[in-house]
Amino acid sequence: MSSQFHIAIDGPVAAGKGTVSRLVAERLGFVYIDTGAMYRMTALLAKQNDVPFSDEDKVTDLVKGAQMDLRAPLEESEKDGRLATVLLNGQDVSWQIRTEEISSGASQVAALAKVRHELVAKQQEIAVGKNVVMEGRDITYRVLPNAQLKIYLSASDIVRAKRRHMQLLTKGTDVAFDEVYKELIQRDDRDTNRDVDPLQIVPDAWVIDTSDLTIEQAVEIIVGRVGAMLEAA
Ligand code: C5P
Repeated sequence: MSSQFHIAIDGPVAAGKGTVSRLVAERLGFVYIDTGAMYRMTALLAKQNDVPFSDEDKVTDLVKGAQMDLRAPLEESEKDGRLATVLLNGQDVSWQIRTEEISSGASQVAALAKVRHELVAKQQEIAVGKNVVMEGRDITYRVLPNAQLKIYLSASDIVRAKRRHMQLLTKGTDVAFDEVYKELIQRDDRDTNRDVDPLQIVPDAWVIDTSDLTIEQAVEIIVGRVGAMLEAA
């Protein structure tokens, strides 16, 4: 294998990117990087500092001054269903960034060009010289445009809303399905229609619709394809 193999995965809210990426990374021994967590940490920083999600300069300054780390949940106390341990200035915020308020805030700070500039640079730095599975909205064309494998992971709106609703209920957040559906469509709309680096399907992406697939099936076909690519290399 060459010194680095990059798998870039983009897709809308709750398409299964996180779980699938994490499992693919585990199977292949690659590093899993959830870039959405970085936009979520940014929103959390803004909230903690009473900075509006729309204040580009102030939010960017907060990002520049912050230490953002992502790692596999290794400690026993971290094995609580999280896909990654997310550290903001050394503090474990893995669950704090998963609220609906921060989800919405993340997609608002993600529309700020200067914020994206900072975070994209951090993400590219993390991937250098490593085998990674990196997931987000702009990975296939902005963060890792030379990735060996580019995937657009999708599912129908209803399936995605059901998955998101189930995730929230499992975590003890009692919220109506209609509300989850509305929030998901709103966030997708913001992510797809923003001026800077909107979610899009690049021509060389492998589009996988997970509506009728189990997580295991999605993981299997991706790992199979990578295996075939590595054999052919
Ligand atoms: O993937 P996740 O839902 O955790 O991402 C939260 C938000 O961060 C997304 O709705 C999107 O607005 C933003 N995001 C982005 N680019 C990425 C990853 C996430 O704009 N690469």
